[in-house]
Amino acid sequence: MNTEREHQKNLITRRALLEGGGLLAGSAVFAHIFSSPLTAGANALFARPGALSARAAAALAGYAQQGAGAAPANQLAAMRAQMGATPITSTKLAENLTLLAGPGGNVVVLHGPDGKIVVDSFVQPAWPKLKENLDAMGNQPIKLLIDTHWHFDHTDNNARFHDAGAMILAHENTKKRMSESHDLKPLGMHFDPSPANALPTQTFKERHAMKANGEDLELGYIPPAHTDTDIYVHYQKANVLHCGDVFFNGMYPFIDAETRGSITGQIAGADKLLKMADNNTKIVPGHGPLGDKAALTKYRDMLIAARERVQKLKSSGKSEQEIVAAKPFADLEPAWGKGLFNGDAFVGIVYSTL
Ligand SMILES: [Zn+2]
Repeated sequence: MNTEREHQKNLITRRALLEGGGLLAGSAVFAHIFSSPLTAGANALFARPGALSARAAAALAGYAQQGAGAAPANQLAAMRAQMGATPITSTKLAENLTLLAGPGGNVVVLHGPDGKIVVDSFVQPAWPKLKENLDAMGNQPIKLLIDTHWHFDHTDNNARFHDAGAMILAHENTKKRMSESHDLKPLGMHFDPSPANALPTQTFKERHAMKANGEDLELGYIPPAHTDTDIYVHYQKANVLHCGDVFFNGMYPFIDAETRGSITGQIAGADKLLKMADNNTKIVPGHGPLGDKAALTKYRDMLIAARERVQKLKSSGKSEQEIVAAKPFADLEPAWGKGLFNGDAFVGIVYSTL
């Protein structure tokens, strides 16, 4: 059995293979997400998507139409393994502030005598490597974990942090969303309610401020954008802004309509974050390389163009498939289409939230 077939077998049920119908627009989403073999060290998910066979894409699309079943758990496991195998890279943002990137959403660690304060937590398989990196920053305890939103590639190690003695702070909707079960249909993933030790221990509604390790932190709610659980974390002295998944730097974003995300909210969220930044602000996206105000502005402008074009075609009565076929993002593709989603998939995401 070759790798491609083993890969497909891992990801999709026999039933989905047998019943998988023709390609629908959304299948491009799957083609991109499940595009790379689960090789160790693969930095595939956000870095270098390849091609999945049309047959597999069709099967996955067929699966998505069928709703929940055995496959989503496998897809979650596959993504955990794939992301978890990505090495961690470390970038110093300030004397006591470090960006860790790789196996999931970008992590920022504030360290010092008051203990470590960590934003986001990577996926479960990355815990030993993450713990090693945290330990190397000094022997102060891990005091607090902050979740930027409920998605698993940001909250997957909540229980590990909790069991290591940390408090977990998030928006109140993150606790609510993590307490529910979810089927993220565009990703073909099912989530059970999180266990009690993975839930935030402290929540806020609008704003939460704190001082630690000589830094002033401000956490604020971003009205439904990528999800309805999004917050920013602003390190005011270091002039660093963590945006969570309201900012995907250099790639089309995922927008989670299931938990009230929308393209319009994503644009408003980017605008809100831009108002907090100056030309020297280091802007940490949920995914992608460290950015700045210029990068976030480009991203916001791309979102505006994407919304306008899809809205215009949708208002003229065109179906999702017709809009995908019209390739409205052709000129955006070289700059934005090489990450998690290509333009066809992103048309589907934008269309679904308009
Ligand atoms: Zn997310």
